[in-house]
Amino acid sequence: MNMEAFVLGCGGVMPLPGRHLTSILLRREGELLLFDCGEGTQVSLRELNLRWKKISAIFVSHTHADHVTGLPGMLMLSAQVDRSEPLYIIGPPRIKEFVDWARDVLEMYINYEIVVLEIENPRVGGVVYTGEGFTVRSVPLNHTRTCVGYILEEDQRPGVFHPERALELGVPRGPLWARLQRGERVTLENDAVVLPEQVLGPPRPGRKFSFITDSLFRSDLPGEVAGSDLLICEGMFHSEFRETAHEKKHMTAADAGELAAAAGGVQRMGLIHYSPRYADGQLKLLVKEARRVFPNSFLTRDRQAIQLPYRDE
Ligand SMILES: [Zn+2]
Ligand SMILES: [Zn+2]
Repeated sequence: MNMEAFVLGCGGVMPLPGRHLTSILLRREGELLLFDCGEGTQVSLRELNLRWKKISAIFVSHTHADHVTGLPGMLMLSAQVDRSEPLYIIGPPRIKEFVDWARDVLEMYINYEIVVLEIENPRVGGVVYTGEGFTVRSVPLNHTRTCVGYILEEDQRPGVFHPERALELGVPRGPLWARLQRGERVTLENDAVVLPEQVLGPPRPGRKFSFITDSLFRSDLPGEVAGSDLLICEGMFHSEFRETAHEKKHMTAADAGELAAAAGGVQRMGLIHYSPRYADGQLKLLVKEARRVFPNSFLTRDRQAIQLPYRDE
């Protein structure tokens, strides 16, 4: 099953030419999930030429303008989409007010249901969305306003199928094999029952995607993002501006590197939410200091596609 992340915007605070505001689109098989929706999000979607009209859910970290101003445009753009399932918008308190206000003032005509779910207690993490084969939970962050990170975790996958064991147990090649592979028990013609665990190896872990912006480093974060196949984390400033960053409750690129390193098991960490003070050519300063702590750090760039393969394939 394919899973890939598309960077729709990597900037913080204000959009720059070629750098839209923070937004990541995650595509898992056919399903689309959006994490934050900064200004310019819809432009990147067009440029990527994705079949994006059926985004299932939009996860909003917080109601600072650079994370939500793309929403009204996104809703208008998808106003006339033929869909039967609702669009979920999930975020901390006031997100509903923002969406309702935009729909009302802009007099949007939207021909499908929009369900806005405010996270009741953003200071405590918990599951906020359950899809087919995965869940998304929020984790509390520490910012100048209520802010949450999001962690998507796939369910475990059934173990590797061993055909020789199936044959030994008298299961003929064919549809019964497929059922066992899906984790179902089967009954043979002689009424013998074969359980999936008799022919499958141990269950294999699913993938994990973490989205953390805007926040100070919190001591509980490494545990939350541990084992991520992809961690997207803000690295707004170079350590040279460490004090400014921390005053504004943002992480430096070095903080992001430390988070990834302390977490353990993180495959790759992509920096995002760059301060507009850094021109594109200067961003390498940020990734350099992140790599000093966590070598598998990289710079996200607008319209970049990042694959999340299974680790055992
Ligand atoms: Zn921001
Ligand atoms: Zn913010």
